[in-house]
This record gives sequence, structure tokens and C-alpha cells, in this order.
Amino acid sequence: MFSKILIANRGEIALRVIRAAKELGVRTVAVHSTADADAMHVRMADESICIGPPSGAQSYLNVPNIIAACEITGAEAVHPGYGFLSENANFVQVLEDHDITFIGPSAAHIRMMGDKITAKDTMKKLGVPCVPGSDGGVDTIEEAHKVSDEMGFPVIVKATAGGGGRGMKLAKTKKDLDEAFSTARSESKAAFGNDEVYIEKYLTLPRHIEVQVFGDGRGRAVHLGERDCSLQRRHQKVFEEAPGPTIDEKTREKIGKVCADAIADIKYSGAGTIEFLYENGEFYFIEMNTRLQVEHPVTETIYGVDLVKQQIRVAAGEEMTFKQEELSIKGHAIEVRINAEKLPNFTPCPGKITTFHAPGGLGVRMDSALYAGYTIPPYYDSLIAKLIVSGITREAALARLRRALGELIVDGVDTTVPLFDALLQEEDVLKGNYDIHWLEKWLEKQNPE
Ligand code: ADP
Repeated sequence: MFSKILIANRGEIALRVIRAAKELGVRTVAVHSTADADAMHVRMADESICIGPPSGAQSYLNVPNIIAACEITGAEAVHPGYGFLSENANFVQVLEDHDITFIGPSAAHIRMMGDKITAKDTMKKLGVPCVPGSDGGVDTIEEAHKVSDEMGFPVIVKATAGGGGRGMKLAKTKKDLDEAFSTARSESKAAFGNDEVYIEKYLTLPRHIEVQVFGDGRGRAVHLGERDCSLQRRHQKVFEEAPGPTIDEKTREKIGKVCADAIADIKYSGAGTIEFLYENGEFYFIEMNTRLQVEHPVTETIYGVDLVKQQIRVAAGEEMTFKQEELSIKGHAIEVRINAEKLPNFTPCPGKITTFHAPGGLGVRMDSALYAGYTIPPYYDSLIAKLIVSGITREAALARLRRALGELIVDGVDTTVPLFDALLQEEDVLKGNYDIHWLEKWLEKQNPE
């Protein structure tokens, strides 16, 4: 096992990793920007080191400074959390060159899944069901028309280098295709320096279902079921649950096995998520995230597994401590992402927290780096807390969520808590009746422009 690791992140996820490391008896180094000198992750780690000015590009994304921080503190490994450098293959390469272990998959696997055409091609060959679409990249508008005509409209043009919903354009009918094709290419060129695009059948009312997988890097892998993350705003998940309300055990075992076998086959190491759109009982692969996800706690809750500890163990060359046959689900878990944002427009709302009280009690987990007196800086993502609740049934979890939201006190800034209070009044949410467009449509109804 490592004696010391560095966490190249901030906020609640940095705390999450520090907690796992502490339980393993591993010392921790926090890195921080000048804006985060008073942040909770700095207080909770055994040591801390400043890596640059406030902007993410100059601090949490600053590879030379992070490497220097490892060398100064003697950290043997780096956990990247999510976001920032977590899916940056070059960073993994640089760490390797400095004999520092990356707590995550290999640079080759990150690259493979970071390029969506390669990812889809790989998954298809591994027997994972994919969205029907072009065979690889589409270079000309003539080819785009040919592929789309064969498939039938609507289609979606997607950037192979895409991420965060950018470089993705819908063509409802044939006459929209020229514009969708050229916009997707130019957006992708501007955002990612790569204008390669591909075309997929557009699924009209799918759910977002993702499968948690975990590999030991030596050809053994397990799955930890699915999460339903269909409630999204601008392609950002806001409410996640496990198990998926529409997935039965047989379906779970079937798709789970396909996913676990696929990553075992490529000798994937660590945690990963295989994302699908799910429509009419069929799964369609869209992408794989080669890191820990924001919503991992719902899976941890129902399986009773600490995914971060397992990540650290496997990176240190130890065995993962679970086998597929030992993994089983207990109850239901829901996570809501609480942002410092002002409704109805979700305007970021940084500022000083005057009072903070986290909910507690049975079945309540609060992953947050907030404390009273803390000032949320304006430079980063507005996620300030993840509230995760569980219950024996989905209904019990929903009742607990309502109760826990009522206990939470965050004074000083606006938060998205009222959104969840309102969603918990909605019949569709209570029944689990939603697809990936449900929340956007509901928001439009609340605030017609
Ligand atoms: P990104 O990496 O930019 O997040 P994804 O490929 O994961 O891109 O897609 C993001 C979202 O876009 C999906 O969650 C879904 O809402 C929508 N989407 C992507 N592909 C399709 C498709 N073929 N049909 C319908 N919606 C899609």
C-alpha cells in the first residue's frame, strides 16, 4: 500500500478521497489554488501545498506544479477525482515518467475511450450494444446524407473529441442536416481542435442508464449494477438513483455481464462507467467514463462497497476485495446535486456561507466541503453538496430525501434545494416516470419565457 497520496482536486470529491485514504492508513496531500487556501480539503488533509492562482488552468490543471507538489511532499500516487485532470492521458503519461502512480486506468485506456469513434468501435467489437450509426467518422456532407438516409431521421451529429454536450447537433429532418453537420464540425474544431464527427440515430425518449464497472487491470472485472441519471438539465445530471426504477434483475445481470466482460477483455484497471441510452428495453452505448463519477455514492450505498478504497488498493497493486457473486443490492439510493445557484435561471451564486447544517440520521449521507464561515469562490463548478439518501424501497428513499432536504440549512447563498422540493411533488418523479428530456420540459413549463 502507498504511504502517501496526493489528491489533484478540490471540493467534496477531494474530501471523499481523503476519507478513503485515511481509512486505509494512507497519508494525504491536498493541493489548492490561492483562492482555496481556506477550503475544507486543505484542512482535512495531512499536508497541503499551493499550486497556483485561482483559475483552474493555472492551478488544478497545472501539470508541472502538481508534479512538483508530488516531488516536494514525497507523494507516491495521485488521485484525480473527477473533472480537471481525471481523463487526461497526457497527465497520466507525465506521472508515469516521474514514477508516480495514477490512481485510475492506463493512459492507453483513457485515450481509447476519450475518442468517441474509437470507443464505440471498441465497444462494438467487445459485444456491447451501440446506437446505430455511421461506421466511424463521416468526412463529407454527401456521406452524411447517405448514412442518414439509410438510417432514417432524426439523426445526431457528434464530435469524436466531444464532451460536456459540445459538438453535438440534432438534425430532425433531412433539411437540417447540412447545418447540423457544419456546426458540429466547427464547434468541435473550436472547442477540441479536432473536427472529426460521426452520425448516430437520434433516440427520441430514452432514459440515461449507466453501468458501474471495476477492473483489476489483469483481466478480472465486476459490475456494480446501474444508475438511472435521466433527470438532466443541459446534459448535466441533477438527480441520480440506483437501482434504475425500470431495470429488473435479469436485465441488470445481462447488461452488467456484457460490460464487465468487455472491460475484463481489455484488462481495464479501476473504476469506470459505461453509459447507455435505454429505450424500449434496449441498451445503446454512448460513452465510457474512465474515472470515478460524481454519482458513485448511490452505487456504494446499495452495494455496501467503498469504490475509492478499491481504486487506491488496485492502483497499489493489491487485489480488489470483491467478487461478482458476493455483490448484491440492498435497498434503493438517490443522490441530488445541490449547487450554489439562484433559481429559476441557475445563475451561479458564490459567496459567504453564514450558517450551515447538514442533515443526518439513518440512511443519510452528505458529501460536501461546506462549513459555516466558508466563502464559495467564483472560479469553479457550483456543486456544493451531494445529498445521498437510502431506504429499503424507492418510496422510503424518497420520503427520506424530503425529510433530509428539510433539515439542510445553507444560509448566505442561494441553492438549488427548492428545485428538489418541487420535483418531489411531481407524480412522474415519484413514480420514476421520466426520460432524458423530462426535466427540461418541466423547467420550461415552470418558467415559460
Ligand atoms: P458528452 O460527452 O458531450 O456528454 P454524450 O455522448 O455522453 O456526450 O451525450 C450526451 C447526451 O446527449 C446524452 O446523455 C443524451 O442526452 C444526448 N445524446 C447523445 N447521443 C444521443 C442519441 N444518439 N440520441 C439521443 N440523444 C443522444
